[in-house]
Amino acid sequence: MSEYRATIGLEIHAELNTRAKMFCSCKNDPDEETPNTNICPVCTAQPGTLPVVNEAAVEQVLRVGKAIGAQLADFTEWDRKNYFYPDIPKGYQITQYKYPLVSGGSLAGVALTRIHLEEDTGSSRHDMGDFSVVDYNRAGVPLMELVTEPVIHDAETAMRFGKELQLLLRTLGASEANMEKGQMRVEVNISISKTDKFGTKVEVKNINSFSAAGAAIAYEMARQEAALEAGEKIIQETRGWDESTGKTFSQRKKESANDYRYFPDPDIPKFVCTEVFGKNYEKLAPLPELPWEKRERLLALGIDAKVVEIYVSDDTLGKLFDEVVAGLSGDAAAIKLASNYISTDLVSLIKAEPVLPLKLSAKTFIDLVSMIGANELSSRGAKDTLTIAYREGGVVREIAEKNGLIQKSDLGEIERVASEIIAANPSQAAEYRAGKTSLLMFFVGQGMKAMKGSGNPKLLGEIFTKLLG
Ligand SMILES: [Zn+2]
Repeated sequence: MSEYRATIGLEIHAELNTRAKMFCSCKNDPDEETPNTNICPVCTAQPGTLPVVNEAAVEQVLRVGKAIGAQLADFTEWDRKNYFYPDIPKGYQITQYKYPLVSGGSLAGVALTRIHLEEDTGSSRHDMGDFSVVDYNRAGVPLMELVTEPVIHDAETAMRFGKELQLLLRTLGASEANMEKGQMRVEVNISISKTDKFGTKVEVKNINSFSAAGAAIAYEMARQEAALEAGEKIIQETRGWDESTGKTFSQRKKESANDYRYFPDPDIPKFVCTEVFGKNYEKLAPLPELPWEKRERLLALGIDAKVVEIYVSDDTLGKLFDEVVAGLSGDAAAIKLASNYISTDLVSLIKAEPVLPLKLSAKTFIDLVSMIGANELSSRGAKDTLTIAYREGGVVREIAEKNGLIQKSDLGEIERVASEIIAANPSQAAEYRAGKTSLLMFFVGQGMKAMKGSGNPKLLGEIFTKLLG
């Protein structure tokens, strides 16, 4: 165990899911592939243009703040962050410095410092030959920046926070938050120390997955410890994460806030949130059920925590299960049984042969468990019926009937099948009669096979016991 303790803070950017950009009416379309299509004089910084605040973006950030129990700003303003780079046509980025929209709050047990709103930059490409090109489609897209307090001490907590934020943003419809597409970008600030005093902070960028975040944190903890143990000093700097080598590398010395010469943007009027969204923010669109509320509700139904996570993180399965719950009106045993078929059978069917959108519905599972309850389907028959419903759609009862899967509780027929099996397996029958009663399972299995899953295993067991007795 290392004597050093790491202290980690996260800075997470998320592109907001608005129709228009932050300060102009250009389309905010992350899927646009033709460069420089969604641009206008405002987002390309032509002289004489004026930015106009997109209220929908402000509302989304305020709703995130409300969801995490943070303090929502009344007054806010936008500031210019000055630096030169070809992907910011104005020579500054419009952001919020002194008056973030959201302060405090906590998520997944991690305290937040602030959430503010800014505009995204364009994107540069350096793979076009002897020159670089810039695409301004992304310039001016509303970007939320969230900063946590430096209260995280291990990679797992950092990754859990990131995943929970992603889930929250998707639940609120605020962002797709797809890390591979750059819609959510994580930066890690990390220092290590043997004492209560913070060590020198290093910032790691270019992280494009949660597992990369975990790996980058582990790498930095080891690198900083080795450096300190060798008597070296940690330099305050920005480092990049190299996915191919699994290492961080020095990019540049960290700028201080002064280098950016922040000042309020004189082109944008001061913004009083309560004038727009109501005195108590009552005009904000209402929040949907939040991930942690949903977790609690499903756990109370007696659903296993791992399965609950499937329903919370997968929108399709979560909605399907909610409809099943509504359709089974409080029958706890039936709900659990239906949940088993969704979380094991359906999930493995989707994995093995994806058929999306789903051809089956909540009714499939409601019918399935009611037929099992009425002894009309064995669990084998239910699995087969579900597989057919998954591949082809259709009504459960009709599928079961058409494929001979309705469980036969007809004693005469079961006795006939059982007698045939005993006659065909004389040595096993003799062993059973000589006392090897564990062979009952063999006979029941043969019976189920002969009846192609339509046999009632309980009845088969009783009849074999009788006939072999
Ligand atoms: Zn524009």
